[in-house]
Amino acid sequence: MINVTKPFLPPFEEYEQYLKGIWDRVWLTNNGPLVNELELKLKDYLGVNHLLFLSNGTIALQIAIKALGLKGEIITTPFSFVATTSSIVWEGCEPVFVDIDRKSLNIDPALIEAAITPRTSAILATHVFGNPCDIEAIEKIAAKHNLKVIYDGAHAFGTTYKGRSVFEFGDICTTSFHATKLFHSTEGGAVVTKDSNLLREMSFLRNFGHNGPETFATVGINGKNSEFHAAMGLCNLKYIDDILAKRKLIWDTYHKRMGHANLGGITLNEQAGFNYAYCPFIFESEQVLLKVIKELEGHKISPRRYFYPCLSTLNYVKPANTPISGDIASRILCLPSSHDLTEEVIDMIARIVLRTINN
Ligand SMILES: *Cc1c(COP(=O)(O)O)cnc(C)c1O
Repeated sequence: MINVTKPFLPPFEEYEQYLKGIWDRVWLTNNGPLVNELELKLKDYLGVNHLLFLSNGTIALQIAIKALGLKGEIITTPFSFVATTSSIVWEGCEPVFVDIDRKSLNIDPALIEAAITPRTSAILATHVFGNPCDIEAIEKIAAKHNLKVIYDGAHAFGTTYKGRSVFEFGDICTTSFHATKLFHSTEGGAVVTKDSNLLREMSFLRNFGHNGPETFATVGINGKNSEFHAAMGLCNLKYIDDILAKRKLIWDTYHKRMGHANLGGITLNEQAGFNYAYCPFIFESEQVLLKVIKELEGHKISPRRYFYPCLSTLNYVKPANTPISGDIASRILCLPSSHDLTEEVIDMIARIVLRTINN
């Protein structure tokens, strides 16, 4: 079976070394030395000031919304993973969907201002597939209307914007280190900010609100992560440059084999700094997409409909008219991209796809 993603695993002995240390120290969780080491190494690798390692990317979004004290409406993208929207609702805010740009598949900044009301408190945008948003345009709008900005950078490990880590932008940027992501710690996530006050607030929030052994600064949650997860992150971080290079090679190979024109549709227009985390292809119609899935599954290849359904159609949000997102969601498919994917397998997948769409 070839899945849309397959987690990278480091050599077992390297993980085992970390396990020995955990056994010696009998320090399993609660801000342990490996969590600290991973935070330091991630900050160093990414070139960011402040980063907190958290239990997952969903809690990272929720902590970000809580730390900024957001209320009322949050403008967001309908084309993302469901956690981008569910976190807003879970935190008692209302998602207001603004349609995406057909080329980047990210929120379209030209449509944001029309959606702002007196109740709008923030913009929460995803760098979808690791392709950076039009950050400059979003920041201009946010500054003009005094809105906070959160970026969901769950796909964007290694993505840069104007030569800096994309995690540096926004009041807070969140990310996920889930096993399916390009860089992972089995389960995990992080928040990144340039603001040291926000950092302190979020460090209380992730640990039940504790600001001392017997004192609580605020209502908190358990957003901590363990030494075992940090160990996986430390092992994988050693290989991150290889992982990123391989993703680009896979992307290039698919595009060489399938071209842009053959799909009869549009393809993701890569922005500068893109990390090639996913290989999405947009087919002519949903019917063609379903045919392609069926053919691939017949060959034990499992692509995924990232992202479907369009989030503005969820049963717990106010319906919104986002025709571009609805259209793209109905006919986009992510083809397998994982570290050990070989050129032969990519060739086979490309052949099956081309045969199906040309039939
Ligand atoms: C994976 C993902 C999340 C959630 O991260 P978890 O670590 O799985 O909780 C949030 N947003 C996007 C865009 C994602 O792809």
